[in-house]
Amino acid sequence: VSRFEGVTMAPPDPILGVSEAFKADTDEKKLNLGVGAYRTEELQPYVLDVVKKAENLMLERGENKEYLPIEGLAAFNKVTAELLFGADNSVLKEQRVATVQGLSGTGSLRLAAALIERYFPGAKVLISSPTWGNHKNIFNDARVPWSEYRYYDPKTVGLDFEGMIADIKAAPGGSFILLHGCAHNPTGIDPTPEQWEKIADVIQEKNHIPFFDVAYQGFASGSLDNDASSVRLFATRGMELLVAQSYSKNLGLYAERIGAMNVVCSSSDLAARCCEVAVIQVKSQLKRLARPMYSNPPVHGARIVANVVGNPALFDEWKAEMEMMAGRIKNVRQKLFDSLSAKDKSGKDWSFILRQIGMFSFTGLNKAQSDNMTNKWHVYMTKDGRISLAGLSLAKCEYLADAIIDSYH
Ligand code: PMP
Repeated sequence: VSRFEGVTMAPPDPILGVSEAFKADTDEKKLNLGVGAYRTEELQPYVLDVVKKAENLMLERGENKEYLPIEGLAAFNKVTAELLFGADNSVLKEQRVATVQGLSGTGSLRLAAALIERYFPGAKVLISSPTWGNHKNIFNDARVPWSEYRYYDPKTVGLDFEGMIADIKAAPGGSFILLHGCAHNPTGIDPTPEQWEKIADVIQEKNHIPFFDVAYQGFASGSLDNDASSVRLFATRGMELLVAQSYSKNLGLYAERIGAMNVVCSSSDLAARCCEVAVIQVKSQLKRLARPMYSNPPVHGARIVANVVGNPALFDEWKAEMEMMAGRIKNVRQKLFDSLSAKDKSGKDWSFILRQIGMFSFTGLNKAQSDNMTNKWHVYMTKDGRISLAGLSLAKCEYLADAIIDSYH
């Protein structure tokens, strides 16, 4: 007998488990709309040209494989904060941001969760209902209590703004409010600029700490600056905030595990010195938390980002490639809407699909209907009704529309 027999079976991951089931399906009509990974029109994985160019440069330079410092590659940390806040933002000029390289978005969120657990004992994190499936796991494993704020309104397939504001107001003062910087996952519904202002008002009133998860910068609108406007709005108000970043989607660096954790400290202190000390202290503690977890982060992805963002020619090429990717998703979104509207004779209004942004569409299909999509139509998707449009081609839109209409009615 094994002493590990008492280790019970863990349930499959609701997102990555979908890919495993997809692999096992032998039907040639099968379609994987589970995980949010960009595919070409031929449904093949895509390595960006700028990434290949940056890797060639790296190879030519013959860079070594020595350990990075605990906080990561300095050139990466500099450009990642600039990409997020804008290079001329006062938070950077005043050196109010502690930035450390993280293990992509997930690892950066986990590091921040560890900071909250250690320095804000008992503080609660408020997460949107629904949210990306891993958020709850991250805070559970870090032993950080969380609860949900209303976000999605099934009646309008839109934002429950009143509910969201009421729940943020009702949370104990000094809570952390987790916000998706852009392209909310799984709903694809973002607050408008006016709504962001009101959200910031309530968070300030209640002395909460905004905690942004930015996993899709550039993927919502196709513009890196537009997609950072929510974070910049909060930063410009002089608020303290946390921001996790990921380069999985926008640079297609999924497996390189490259991202960052940024902590912005306040400017409202009369003594600027307080803030300076806070930044240094926060950074020291993030390093202290990272060291026993993974010691120091991997270098390859950090160098790619530093080369792409730090080189004006490559940066421009990246923006063009990102517009191409975001554009392809928009085309598929339109085609799916057109196919559904043409085929569905029930009179259902499908325009919510066009109002959603980013990689995903939240179809409103419930669990049983999502099961029908998979079991009958071989369309793999998460059970919350989310489909990844990044895994869809124009050629497959009609088939998908048939599957959705059959499952709905
Ligand atoms: N946050 C959200 C909302 C996400 O959708 C994702 C990716 N699916 C992540 C964070 C993190 O992904 P990664 O760890 O690959 O950067």
